[in-house]
Amino acid sequence: LAEYLFGHGIGIDWPEQHGWIADSNPFPGRMSPSTAFAFLLSGATLLLMNRVRARGIGLLVQGLTLGITLVGTIGLTGYLLKFPLVYRNYLFGQMALSTAIGFIAAGTGLWLSWRRDAWYRDRRLMLREEWPIVTNGAIAMLLVVFVSWLATSTSTGRQVESLMKANLLEVLEQRSQLIRIDLELRSARAALVASRPALMDLLDRLQAHRDDGDALARLRETVQSFQPHGFNAMSIAGPDGTEWVRVGGFVDETAFRVPLRQDPTAFLIWDEGFVLRTLIPMVQNANVSGMMISEQRLPILTKGFHAADPSLAKGEIALCNQSNATFNCFPPTAEAKPYYVVASPTLSMAFALAGETGTRFAKDYRGIDVIAAFGPVGTSGLGMVAKLDTADLFAPLRDQMRVEIEVLAVLLAAGVALLYRSVAPLARGLSLSKTRLQLALDASRIALWDWSSRERHVYFSDEWERMLGRPAREVHLQLEDLFRIAHPEDRAALQKNLANTLSGKQQEYDIEHRVRAQDGHWVWIHSHGEVVERDGRGHAVRMVGTNVDISARRETESQLTHRATHDPLTGLPNRALFQDRLELALARARRSKALMVVMYIDLDKFKGINDTLGHDVGDALLKGFAARLTSGIRATDTAARLGGDEFAVVMEAFGTREDGLRVAEKIAAGVRPSFKVGEHTLQVTSSIGIAYFAGERGIDAERLLKMADNGLYQAKAAGRDCVRVGGAAGEPEVAAEGAGLSPSSSS
Ligand code: GH3
Ligand code: MG
Repeated sequence: LAEYLFGHGIGIDWPEQHGWIADSNPFPGRMSPSTAFAFLLSGATLLLMNRVRARGIGLLVQGLTLGITLVGTIGLTGYLLKFPLVYRNYLFGQMALSTAIGFIAAGTGLWLSWRRDAWYRDRRLMLREEWPIVTNGAIAMLLVVFVSWLATSTSTGRQVESLMKANLLEVLEQRSQLIRIDLELRSARAALVASRPALMDLLDRLQAHRDDGDALARLRETVQSFQPHGFNAMSIAGPDGTEWVRVGGFVDETAFRVPLRQDPTAFLIWDEGFVLRTLIPMVQNANVSGMMISEQRLPILTKGFHAADPSLAKGEIALCNQSNATFNCFPPTAEAKPYYVVASPTLSMAFALAGETGTRFAKDYRGIDVIAAFGPVGTSGLGMVAKLDTADLFAPLRDQMRVEIEVLAVLLAAGVALLYRSVAPLARGLSLSKTRLQLALDASRIALWDWSSRERHVYFSDEWERMLGRPAREVHLQLEDLFRIAHPEDRAALQKNLANTLSGKQQEYDIEHRVRAQDGHWVWIHSHGEVVERDGRGHAVRMVGTNVDISARRETESQLTHRATHDPLTGLPNRALFQDRLELALARARRSKALMVVMYIDLDKFKGINDTLGHDVGDALLKGFAARLTSGIRATDTAARLGGDEFAVVMEAFGTREDGLRVAEKIAAGVRPSFKVGEHTLQVTSSIGIAYFAGERGIDAERLLKMADNGLYQAKAAGRDCVRVGGAAGEPEVAAEGAGLSPSSSS
């Protein structure tokens, strides 16, 4: 670039490396300024692209990469459309095809590369949603337009080129023919004159008698008579060289002349027009009688050779021969002067003089790009070149290209505007609904999920991440992973629900299940979804749904259920739940025929404690009692508070009736030790009624409870702090005879 800017070579061109490229580059091996410029841009991009911290640098890197691609594209276009030929002083010089393609690839590669940099990743350089879409659309349109324009322009260029080559060749052929015919005709005319017998007789007479005045006069007369026939000058000399006659004015000896390589000896002279000079020996009967020198002006050739031709409007025609190392050329126009050019084998004239005919693009002797047709002029030894500056050749194409580019630019702008108009509302609407959806999701705490059989992962919205407290990578699960984090108890139901929905057996996927959160606790979720897309065979392809964290609701629900079924003071099941449990136990006992025991327990003289020490003390005592009661039974047994100071126990799978009594006695004994309530130390006793059930017909829960109640009544009647077995209503059953279990022994 420095060499180009300062016009001073610094010797790094290595021209010998490029000798094989047969182009007419004045500095073989030297990088074109555009290539140097693109290398500068690439270097700058590489330096900056990993150091982007500020918006300015970010935009600069984009600009630089675009620049590299642009220079490459211009180089490629220039190569395809022969810009250096089309435009005089083409700014970008000549870029090799491989270099141009290389820069396009490098620019694209750098663009893709810096886009992956972290700084760009979370940044939106386009402030509006529609800009990227419109930009991409515009680039696509531009590419299509550019490629089609390039294709048509290239083919138009080719057509212009081949048309012009044909035209130039035709001009060349015409002019060459004109010269050949004119020269032949005039040579023949001179030869005809020179072979006149009358002339030769007169010459012979003069040869015999040098003083024959009559012969000389007649010779002058005859020669003068030829003048009106195109001979502007003629001289006749004897064989010894004596000039007998000279008529008319010969062209000055110093005028531009070239010898013609044909018989007879002839010269083509330029004296403000073509002049043919012939030197013809006058021969009669193998006897040289004299020598005729004649000059004929060639007005038709002069006019025809320089005639205007539409194909040559701005072109030039050259007619030269070569002597030593010089091309001697006739004037290119009637008004111009002959000129000399240092002979060079790269000039088209060299080809013409070597006898070749054809057309070529080349630099002419002025160093300007031309298109040239070349060919020899018969056997005259002259060569002719018809040439046209390529800049002029492509001038119409250039103008057309300018108009085309203007029109295409306007169309492209219109297309982009149209695209913008149609896309902008869509993009804005999309963005708006995206924002709204996000807001709604954020506010509602609903996690969206989207499963597609085509993609490996289930899409989850951010809320899911928050719900589980897991990092995003782990929550973008596959379906199998979802089963993995689901609660083992829920897994089967989950799988079944999902399978039914996917197969279409059930319309909606709807299930409440637990999933494990990051910290290990279980989160209850309500998952709801629908298949939104099926393939041709009915297989689900896509299913979309929501997950809602329902842990709080579940918690409240379980609290409510607990409250409805449990006694708030002691935490024991209440009467309703006891009733349920009793029914269940009865049903089981009926099936198994195993012995089952129901106890009805009431504290003795509890009212007194309430009255003397207060309700609070009574409550505390009830709690203490409940605790002892539950500690005295198995986990599978149920102890309940039926109300007031009344408690009940149901026990299943008992061995014998004695066992039941023993347990009742154990409970009663457990109550007896004193309770510490605040500063009070209290002592209470309890009365217990028992009823057994071993699958007998006609006994239901109510009846069984009544039997136990009956036992209690008996225990109270027997003086309290004792156990009694209650029979069917009205017929008290005999107390168990178990040793030490009689009421008296325990009172
Ligand atoms: P008995 O030996 O005949 O059973 O005499 P008692 O005093 O225990 O009489 P009863 O069982 O008929 O009365 C129960 C008393 O328990 C009545 C009421 O004052 C008291 N009570 C009922 N519910 C509660 C309660 O929730 N808290 C307290 N502190 N006392 C209660
Ligand atoms: Mg009581």
